[in-house]
Amino acid sequence: MSKFVYFFGKDVTDGKSSMKDLLGGKGANLAEMANLGVPVPPGFTITTEVCVLYLKENKYPEEVLRQEKEAIDKLEALNGKRLGDPEDPLLVSVRSGARVSMPGMMDTVLNLGLTDKSVIGLAKKVNDERFAYDCYRRFIAMFGDVVLGVEFRKFDSLIEDKKKELGVKSDTDLDSKALKELVERFKGVIKLEKGFEFPQDPKVQLQMAINAVFDSWNNQRAITYRKLNGIDDSWGTAVNVQTMVYGNRGNTSGTGVAFTRNPSTGEKKFFGEYLINAQGEDVVAGIRTPDFINTLGDKIPEAYAQLVDICQRLESHFTDMQDIEFTIQEGKLYMLQTRTGKRTAAAAVKIATDMVAEGLIDKETAVNRVKAEHIDLLLHPRIDPEAKLEVIAKGLPASPGAAVGKVVFTAEAAEEMAEIGEKTILVRTETSPEDIGGMAAAQGVLTVRGGMTSHAAVVGRGMGKPCVVGCGEISIDMKNAHFMVNGFTIKEHDFITIDGSIGSVIIGKVDLIDAEINYDLRKLLIWADEIRTLGVRTNADNPADAALARELGAEGIGLCRTEHMFFGEDRIPAVREMIMAEDEKTRKKALKRLLPMQKEDFIGIFRSMEGLPVTIRLLDPPLHEFLPDKEELDEKLRELETSGDCGKIDEVKKVIQRVVSLKELNPMLGHRGCRLGITYPEIYNMQVRAIMEAACELTAEGMEIVPEIMIPLVGLVKELSLSKEEVCKTAETVMAEKGMKIDYKVGTMIELPRATIVADQIAKEADFFSFGTNDLTQTTFGFSRDDVSKFVPIYQKAGILEHDPFAVLDQEGVGELMKIGIGKGRSVKPELKIGICGEHGGEPKSITFAHQIGIDYVSCSPYRVPIARLVAAQSTMEIRDAKNKRT
Ligand code: ADP
Ligand code: MG
Ligand code: MG
Repeated sequence: MSKFVYFFGKDVTDGKSSMKDLLGGKGANLAEMANLGVPVPPGFTITTEVCVLYLKENKYPEEVLRQEKEAIDKLEALNGKRLGDPEDPLLVSVRSGARVSMPGMMDTVLNLGLTDKSVIGLAKKVNDERFAYDCYRRFIAMFGDVVLGVEFRKFDSLIEDKKKELGVKSDTDLDSKALKELVERFKGVIKLEKGFEFPQDPKVQLQMAINAVFDSWNNQRAITYRKLNGIDDSWGTAVNVQTMVYGNRGNTSGTGVAFTRNPSTGEKKFFGEYLINAQGEDVVAGIRTPDFINTLGDKIPEAYAQLVDICQRLESHFTDMQDIEFTIQEGKLYMLQTRTGKRTAAAAVKIATDMVAEGLIDKETAVNRVKAEHIDLLLHPRIDPEAKLEVIAKGLPASPGAAVGKVVFTAEAAEEMAEIGEKTILVRTETSPEDIGGMAAAQGVLTVRGGMTSHAAVVGRGMGKPCVVGCGEISIDMKNAHFMVNGFTIKEHDFITIDGSIGSVIIGKVDLIDAEINYDLRKLLIWADEIRTLGVRTNADNPADAALARELGAEGIGLCRTEHMFFGEDRIPAVREMIMAEDEKTRKKALKRLLPMQKEDFIGIFRSMEGLPVTIRLLDPPLHEFLPDKEELDEKLRELETSGDCGKIDEVKKVIQRVVSLKELNPMLGHRGCRLGITYPEIYNMQVRAIMEAACELTAEGMEIVPEIMIPLVGLVKELSLSKEEVCKTAETVMAEKGMKIDYKVGTMIELPRATIVADQIAKEADFFSFGTNDLTQTTFGFSRDDVSKFVPIYQKAGILEHDPFAVLDQEGVGELMKIGIGKGRSVKPELKIGICGEHGGEPKSITFAHQIGIDYVSCSPYRVPIARLVAAQSTMEIRDAKNKRT
């Protein structure tokens, strides 16, 4: 028979932390803590399986209800109290908990079991009427909100009214009489909104709350969160029913949240917040501003010492930074939750490397713990230290990094602005789960209220959004669409900059600069290099980029585009002269002018990459790209005609003619790539001469130069064999002239479907392959890559495409062609070196796929190189582990 309900508590625990799929993260770890002897209030977990069954059938199997009843009986026996007992009632919390933590997504009900009768019993039992009614009013509001769907705000505003009425500031100033009145008003709200009385049978309350938790799996907030985080809709959540402990029983009671290390910086220092005389959500909700955890030792020393000790134990046990929740009831500590803590990118790297040094984890684990997105974030911009800043306010540095954008005050506005490509900073009094879409769309988030563990802070860190919270100096005026702070008025759509690393709010647009790789990241990436078997090169076409990429760990250039070099101010006249040439002789003359410049380019690049391979692609784009725009020329012509400058008129007319004659209907499929080289061999000859002369000169200086010449857009083997013949002829001539011998290679881009299909023929002629996945995607789909924005987003929304195939490699189609190409290529040349260049070379999913299908190296833009190094190491381990599993 299936087990649907798992008990936890000292000596009576059924579950353990490895059962997260079944018990949810919260339930599994509550069980694990109980197993470790950590004080946990006893309770039971109803499994995720039950959630799935219930959501499908909208009712429970008999057996579930039977096991649930059995568990309640056991809980009652264990506590020596019964649910709804008018003398001494058992109270419980009902808590959700999915397989992975979904902060703030599912709702919790506390103090369940209180009724008009049992509240009196509780008050008598603990001899504290205020406390009992404080619990009851909280319960009714939470139950009303979570279970009955009455807006929380309705209860909240009654509290505010009451406070005003009595002239007090804080919730804790409300006495038992006030709370009693609130209870009556709250019940009135429920009666009014729902048309029935607040339920007075605890068993009914409990079942309704359990149903509500299961139902909340499908609320909009949860669905959005799952979508944003790639969580499977079919998992379901578990429900935890747990004996209540009370942080609101006076000055030796309290509640808090903590991290075993600083989740923002990674520093190994206990970090957290707490409130004295408060319950549950108070800390995160930002109702009162919490105190820093290190002051708790002064107030409740024994419990604090025990907390520090337990946190250390939990961290060593789980071998990762933990995010914990606790409550102290009259000096006695209870742990209510532990999970692997979310952290910023910087913290992820620091914690991973520190834990290796501490001997908690090994290098491979460390490399696996850091995510590609983390590195991406670390390489994100920060505020230029030289920039002049006008700081208008300070808040808490909740999620690091700098962001610039236009002020918006609602999540919807942030989303709308993002749709039209505008960058925004979302400014809110505080954020709630409804805001996550807008938070994702904004560059950064600024809130007036809340602490380091408030919703905005937790979600901001998770998303890697720069975030400043608790900026109390700000007052938002929604009506007039502005906020005011320290004498400044910032209107909606005004630019501001926030720095989530130090918590500053700055007026206007501030220059941001790129981040650097710090010591810890460097160390981690060296470990990644030790692990990985996939090469990482860069796409670079100037010495500065090449040097930067090498600094970032590139092992050579996988794609050096030569066309960018032609656009230089000093080059373009010669390039245009070459294009305008009517015969071979004039063209050769122009090319001769270009030769020394092109040679200088290669000398610079080779120097930066000394000792490493440099793959140079010969000219690829259609020639018209180098000529001026037709409309501009027409305009110029009109001007000249009015001024009557006859000499120039003819010149311009000639250019216009050439532009017209070069015009193509589908330039991407037109006269470009090796087709250019074959029709105008002198262009490629000049380029090869420049490459080989540069290589010879540097070799003569004693450098090791490894040139790889790459022919683009080959679809027919003869295109390659002809081009190659020309390349080799020129190369041999140059080497003979210089009296030198250089080991050079001639290979090809594989970027047309036809090339993948005849890759065996092509491989016979090629020293290497490099998949040009941008063009290969374009030609496989028949999507013009410059026009996809018109329909790909719609395709994604409609579920026709999951990703933009130009961003994430289409494994099914393009990937299949690549497999064919690799297989056929290596069938004639088993050692054939194969790379991938183009945007996909720096995209984590695509890198892993490329590795799996047998690619030797990826090539990506310089700032993606560290990401590629990490992902390559992770995919190496993944492939190895999968293989070990099979054998
Ligand atoms: P979330 O998943 O949103 O963190 P939790 O289920 O952890 O929700 O509950 C939120 C807070 O409610 C906890 O941090 C804790 O302070 C309080 N809480 C939950 N269960 C209990 C309990 N049995 N006794 C006391 N407080 C509780
Ligand atoms: Mg929690
Ligand atoms: Mg191409």
